Amino acid sequence: MVRVDNCLCEAIRKRLPSPLRGLVDLAYNYWWSWNRRATKLWKKIDPEHWAEYKNPVKLLLDTPTHRFKELLRDDDFMNLYELVMEQFEDYINQESTWFSTNYPKWDRPIVYLCMEYGISKSLPIYSGGLGILAGDHVKTASDLGLPFIAVGLLYKHGYFKQEIDEKGNQIEIFPEYRPEEMPIRPVLDKGGKRLLVEVPIEDRTVYARAFEVQVGRVRIYLLDTDVPENSPEDRTICDYLYNADIDKRIKQEILLGIGGMRLLKALGIEPGVVHLNEGHPAFANLQRIAWLMEEGLTFTEALSVVRGTTVFTTHTPVPAGHDRFPLEEVRKRLSQFLKGREELIKLGKEGDQFNMTLLAIRTSSYVNGVSKLHAQVSRRMWQNLWPGVPLDEIPIGAITNGVHTMTWVHNEMRKLFDRYIGKIWREHTNLEGIWFAIERIPDEELWEAHLEAKRQFIELLRRKAIKRNERLGIDDPIPSIDENALIIGFARRFATYKRATLLFTNLERLKKLLNYPTRPVYLVFGGKAHPNDWGGKEFLRRVYEVSQMPEFRGKIFILENYDMGSARLMVAGVDVWLNTPRRPLEASGTSGMKAGLNGVLNASIYDGWWVEGYNGKNGWVIGEESTEPESEEDDVKDAESLYDLLEREIIPTYYGNHEKWIYMMKESIKSIAPRFSTHRMVKEYMDRFYSKAMSNHIWLTRDNYKGAKEIAGWKDRVTESWSKVGFVDVRVLDNRSGLEVLIDLDGLKPEDVRVELYYGVRAEGYHIEKPHIIELRHPRRLEGGKWLYLYRGNALKHLGNPCWHYALRVYPYHEKLPHRFLLGFVKWFGLD
Ligand SMILES: *Cc1c(COP(=O)(O)O)cnc(C)c1O
Repeated sequence: MVRVDNCLCEAIRKRLPSPLRGLVDLAYNYWWSWNRRATKLWKKIDPEHWAEYKNPVKLLLDTPTHRFKELLRDDDFMNLYELVMEQFEDYINQESTWFSTNYPKWDRPIVYLCMEYGISKSLPIYSGGLGILAGDHVKTASDLGLPFIAVGLLYKHGYFKQEIDEKGNQIEIFPEYRPEEMPIRPVLDKGGKRLLVEVPIEDRTVYARAFEVQVGRVRIYLLDTDVPENSPEDRTICDYLYNADIDKRIKQEILLGIGGMRLLKALGIEPGVVHLNEGHPAFANLQRIAWLMEEGLTFTEALSVVRGTTVFTTHTPVPAGHDRFPLEEVRKRLSQFLKGREELIKLGKEGDQFNMTLLAIRTSSYVNGVSKLHAQVSRRMWQNLWPGVPLDEIPIGAITNGVHTMTWVHNEMRKLFDRYIGKIWREHTNLEGIWFAIERIPDEELWEAHLEAKRQFIELLRRKAIKRNERLGIDDPIPSIDENALIIGFARRFATYKRATLLFTNLERLKKLLNYPTRPVYLVFGGKAHPNDWGGKEFLRRVYEVSQMPEFRGKIFILENYDMGSARLMVAGVDVWLNTPRRPLEASGTSGMKAGLNGVLNASIYDGWWVEGYNGKNGWVIGEESTEPESEEDDVKDAESLYDLLEREIIPTYYGNHEKWIYMMKESIKSIAPRFSTHRMVKEYMDRFYSKAMSNHIWLTRDNYKGAKEIAGWKDRVTESWSKVGFVDVRVLDNRSGLEVLIDLDGLKPEDVRVELYYGVRAEGYHIEKPHIIELRHPRRLEGGKWLYLYRGNALKHLGNPCWHYALRVYPYHEKLPHRFLLGFVKWFGLD
C-alpha cells in the first residue's frame, strides 16, 4: 500500500461536524466527477463556489463551519449525502468486476504513462484530446476493475485560462495552482517522510516529489520538481504543460519516463505491462532496459523483456507532430544516465535526431493508431522500419478511441437512458444490442430532454458573455437564442488543420444561410490555440472578426475558455457538431463521439473516427466519402460541400422534418454510444494487448529470465544468419500442379523460419489487396547440401495470368514473438 500524507485531509475532516466527515473521502476521489448525485451534493454546499472551481477540496476549505452546521439540518442534503456515500462505498469495495471475472489470475499492475490527464476541470493538467482520452481511459480502467496505475506530471500553472480581448486576441492566463487546494495528496516514503525521487539529468540529480490522485479504484501519480532540494532552475521544469523550450521539454520527458519508473520502484510497484500513451514517456523503456542489464541481462535479453511487455499508442498522423530532439541535446541531458551504456541512445536515433516515437516503436510489441484510418496512415508513415513487409502486415494495429460515457452523457439523456434501457447501459455500455431500446423513447420526450440541454448551454454562453463584457467594458451582443433555433457548434483546440474558419470561405453565402428570417441559424465556436501556434490564434481572431460584422452580430459567438466544464454542456447543448479537419490529420477525434451519444448530429469530414462511425443515417459527411488525403486546394471544395449540406439537408430537415431529425438523433445515440465508448476501447486494449503482454511477461521473466534468454539467443542466431538465408532454386511443376522450392537456411532450423506462398489479384504495382497466404511445410533436408531444404507447394492455378501475382517469402518465426514481422526480416522471390 502506498502511503500518502493525510495531514491536510485530516485537518479538513476536523473542521466538519462528525456526521459529515465522509465528505473528505469523497472530495479526495474523482469518482464524484462522473456521478451526478455527488456533483449535486457539492453544488448544494455552495453553488457559486462550485460553478467557479468544481474543486471539492477547495470548497471544503473555503466554506465556513456554520454552513456545515446548517447543512446538518437540511434533510434533503443529508438524504442525498447518505445516498452518495453508500454508492461511493459500494463502488470502491465492489468485489466482482469485468476484470476479476475475465482475468482472475492476474496479479501485476498495468502501468500507463502520459504527459497529460483530463479528469476534471479542477485538475488542469490537460490541453485537449490526448489528455481527455487518457482521463477517460483511467476512469474506465476503474469501472472495469483493471489493476491500473497511471503516471504523469503536475504542472504548477497547468494549461492556461483563455480570455479573448476586444480585438479577438487570445490572452493566456496562467494561474498558479496550489497543491494543498487540490484533491491530491503527497506521497510518503517508507519512513513516513515526503518521498523524493532521484532523476538523473545532465550530470546531476534532480529531485521530484509525487502526488497521488484517486480516480475511483485507480490512482494516478504526478511528479513535480518544485522542491527546495533543487536549483531554482530545476524547480521550474514542471511549470507549464507543453513547454516550447526544447530544454524543458526534454527534461519533462526524462522526468515522466525515467522519473516515473523510479517512482514506481520506490513505491514497490512492479509493472507487468507498460502502456506508453504517445511517444512522450518513451524514456521509461530506457530505464527499464538499464535496470535489467544491471541485473545481468544482455542488451538483447533486456530489450526482449521490455519489448514483449510494452504497449504503445501513437496519436499523430502528421510527421511534424512527433517529438524529435537534436540527438546531441538528448545525449547531453542523459549523460549521467547513459554512462557505460551509450548504446541505449541508438534506440531513438534517426540520423542526427532523437525521435521519441521511434524509441517507443522499437521498444514495444503492441503498437496502435487510434482509428482504422489513422492506423493505415501510421503504417505508411513508419513503413521503412520494416523493409519488405507488405503495408497491411506492418505491425501497427488500430484500436479506435472512445469516450467515458458516464462523464460525457448529459443529465437529461442519462435519465432517459435509465428509464428506457434500464441501468444496464451504465456498466455494459459497449453492448450494442441494449441500445436498440433507444427506439422506445417517445419522440417528444427525447426532444424535450434535448431542449433542456440546449437551454442549459445557452445559459452558460450568456453568463460567459456577460462576464466578458463586464471585464472589458464593452457591449458585444449577449446571446439571446431561442432554444428552438438551430445551433451549430464547433469546439476543440484551434489547431489550423482543424480549419475552424472553413465556414467563412464564402461570407455572402453564409450570410444568407444564417439570416433566413423563419429559419435562424446560430454558430458557436470554442477552443484554445496553443500559446505558440500563431496560425491557430489568427483563426480565432478571424472567427471573432466575422462575429463582429453587422450581418453576423448576434449570430456567431465564441465561448471563452473552452474546458472540460463547458465542453460537457456544449457537446449536448447544440444541434449539430461540426468537424472540418483536413484529412487525414484528425487521427481520431473524440468530441464528435461525446456529441453523438447525446443525440447531437455530427456533420464531419470523412476522417478519423467518423469513417467508422458514419452509417448514412446518424449524421452527415462533408465533402467526399473517401479516405484520400487532402491538400489546401480541397478547402474550397469542402467549404462548398458544407454550404450545400447546410442549405439542402441540415437546415431543411431541422425546420421542416422534425420526425426525421428525431430519427437521426436516435440513430446517432444507438450507433455511437456503445461503439465509441472507452468501455469498448479499454476492453479491446485488455483483450488484444495487455493480456498478451502479460503472458509474455510471465514467460519472459520466469526462472530467472529463461524465456528472455531463449528468445534473445534465437534473435542473435537469426540476425547472424539472415543475410545468407535465401531462395536457391524455385521450380514450377508441369501444368502448374505444384512447385518445389530450395532454400538455404544457413544453419537455422526449419522451425526457425516460415516459408509461404503469397498470391492474389494485383492492385497497383505489386500490391495485392486481399492476399492468399499458404504456408509450405515439412521440408526435406537435401542430402549433401549443407543447409539446403526442399519445400513443396500447392498448385498455382492462376500463374501466368497477368492479373495475378505470385510470390514466395521466408521470414524468421518463433512462437513467442508477438508479431511475425517484429524483427523486420523477410525475403521474397517473385514468380512472375
Ligand atoms: C473532447 C475534448 C477535446 C477533443 O476534441 P476533438 O474534437 O477530438 O479534438 C478537446 N478539448 C476538450 C475540452 C474536450 O472535452
